[in-house]
This record gives sequence, structure tokens and C-alpha cells, in this order.
Amino acid sequence: MKKENKLCSLLWNHLYLNNEGYALPCCAAYEHIEEMLKQSKSITEVSSIEELLKLDLFKDIRQTMLDGKEHTFCSSCYDKEEKGIQSYRQESNELFHETYEKIVTGELNLDSAVSYEYVDLRLGNQCNLACRMCPPNSSSNLIKDYQALESQNFSLDFTKNTSWHKDPNFWQELLSRSHEIKKIYLAGGEPLLINETWDFLGELIKRDHAKNITIYYSTNLTTLPEKAAKFWPSFKTVQLSLSIDGFGDVHEYIRHPIAWKKIEANLHKLDKDFLDLNIESAVVYSTIQAYNFDAIPELVQYLNQFTNIDSYPVISLLTAPNQLSIEALPLDIRKRAIAPLKALLFQAKTSEYKSEKWKSNFIHEVLNLISSLSNENFNKDLFEEFKRYTLHFDKTRSQDIFKRIPELKNYF
Ligand code: SF4
Repeated sequence: MKKENKLCSLLWNHLYLNNEGYALPCCAAYEHIEEMLKQSKSITEVSSIEELLKLDLFKDIRQTMLDGKEHTFCSSCYDKEEKGIQSYRQESNELFHETYEKIVTGELNLDSAVSYEYVDLRLGNQCNLACRMCPPNSSSNLIKDYQALESQNFSLDFTKNTSWHKDPNFWQELLSRSHEIKKIYLAGGEPLLINETWDFLGELIKRDHAKNITIYYSTNLTTLPEKAAKFWPSFKTVQLSLSIDGFGDVHEYIRHPIAWKKIEANLHKLDKDFLDLNIESAVVYSTIQAYNFDAIPELVQYLNQFTNIDSYPVISLLTAPNQLSIEALPLDIRKRAIAPLKALLFQAKTSEYKSEKWKSNFIHEVLNLISSLSNENFNKDLFEEFKRYTLHFDKTRSQDIFKRIPELKNYF
């Protein structure tokens, strides 16, 4: 592999802050998160964004990449590439190809300042949902559940910085560099509910920078504020990642207290007002876990009715908390999802799709899902934890796992 194939533009043009304001290489670098957090700082602990971007953590990753090597913290990207799935690194190098070329040619080097070309903000834990697989630092509505589930092991410490985005100094500093921004990724919590983001977008419009900027939201689509119609058309374009984990009851079971009717109404509104809202793409992202291991074929069938919203979701397999991952389920339950997925694969391979690249990614993701469903490993301890979590949430939400997965009755 050529030296430049290890490089990632995001180490030169990216600001990523997680839900607690910690600066990290990007959202895809999650496999060694504990180790990375030890080498990082939160925006609440420093006096400026600039200070964060000068951390040794980033310089060290840059150096490894410039040496033509894979940095451990970026293993999630290199592992995907090995499996033939497009990684975030490859996607970013393609999107920011000018920056990438400057790194390859040496115009940007180890000591170059980080530009604000791509800003990715995970805005604390203000959310209107309490999804089963989310941690309390993504939604404050989960704190009580985790206090009950983890008792002595639970500390509120890791949610203490989740209001970092309320600090006006942060937004002022970001505005001072807004002429550099080409893309802003906003996720929460639920970003459409966070007033500071709307104020920031308003300022970008006033300064005439909006027209150069693509806004990317990761949203649960429970709301479509009126400000969207007012602000979004001033931007270069808007891209939406819609967090939807299944059709109807499946989605309601996981993303409590969502009402499917509301999601359905907003999907139709988005599809209808797509161009007026200046939307370039709206893609469903599904987190596959024990509760929706079988949900993708029905979801694809449902999404097929829309004109502008993509029919094929992007699938990612849940890795944490691992007691809710597919591997927590007994093998014979998992296996029944394989045949419908194989039929879906055939359908995807033979149907028209917006691009060959997206189609090929979907196919690889489904193959990866089939491989996890077929994995012979069954960990009893993991299953016991799955039961404990599931029964807790069922009780506090008046839900019933046996309506979702009836065969589990034989195992509880
Ligand atoms: S190589 Fe991958 S994990 Fe590392 S910074 Fe780039 S996109 Fe993130």
C-alpha cells in the first residue's frame, strides 16, 4: 500500500468535540476511546479551541500517518477498508480532496495549523428520547435508568461536561473562523432542539458565510422546527442522517418514547419539501442491535415509497453496550434473520441505486450483518446482562420484549 494511503485529511482540517466537549480525531475513532480520552482535554478545561487542536494526541497520529503507518486509534477505518467497506477516512479524503492533496505533496506537514474546514460537534445530552442503547452522556433521560442498573458503579462524573455547548465564548471563537468552514456536522443529544445551533446558523447567514457551508445533521426526526424552512435555504446545502432503527413498533421499542406516527409524518413532510428545504440527501441510519436484528428488510420495503429519501439505510452494528449487541442473542434466534437478508441482498444487487459506491457499501454492510448473525459464539454472561437490561427497560417503559421477539420466551 502506498504511503499516502494511510493519510487522513481530518487530522489537518477537522474539529471534533464529543458530547462532553473532548477533542478527538473524529467520530469514527471509537475503538480505543478510553486511551484517547486520557490524552485529550475537554473544551471546558482549556481557554480556547486552538489550545485543544494543538494537543500532542493529534500530532502523534499525524506523525504515524506521515510515516506511512496505521495509527492504533484509527483501526476502525483500516479494519473497514480490509473488509472492502468504504471507511470514514476514504470518504473524508474524497470529500476534502484539496486538503488531502496538500498533505500528499507536503504543502501541509506535521506542524501545519489545523483548519476549520470541517467542524463536527456532539452537543451534549439534551434529547427528548431515551433510546435503549444510548449512554446517559447522549441523553440525560437515561440517567435514572443507569443509576438503577449500575448502582454503585454509576457515577454522574462522565455527564458533568455535557453542557459545554452553552458557553457563548465557544461559539464566538468558532464564528471568528467561520470563513474557513465548508461543512458542519451537528449531532446531540438532538441537535434540532438545541437553540445555540440555530443562533450560530443565523450568525453564519448574517456574515454571508452560509452559502459556502453544507450542514449535516444527525437527527431523530421527532421534530422539524420552523427555523429549518427559514435558515436552511441560505446554506450551500443540507444533508440529513435520520436515526431510524426499524419500522413502526420496532422503532418505538428501541427509541422510547417516540411515536412512529410522528416519524412517519415528518418523513412525508421531508420528502415533499425536499427541494424547498434545500436538502441534498436524507439517508436513514440504522443501529443494528439485539432488538432489531431482523428489522432491515421490512424497513427497506417501507422506505421504498419515498421519492427523495433513500430506500437503503446505512447499517452500523452496535458494539457498545455489548450486552445489547447481536452477539448477546442465542444463535438459533439470530439465524432466522439470515434468509430475508439474503433475499434483500439479491434485490439490492439487481436494483437501481443513486450510486454504485452507495450500493456496494450497503451490500458489504448486509454481508457483515449476516456474518455477525451466523457467528457461532454465544456468551451466556452477555445474555444474562441482556436479560437484566431488557427487563429493566421493559418495566420502566411498560414494554414487552416478547412482543418484539416472541422466541425469547423459551430463554427467560
Ligand atoms: S483515519 Fe479514520 S478514525 Fe482516524 S481520524 Fe481519519 S476518519 Fe477518523
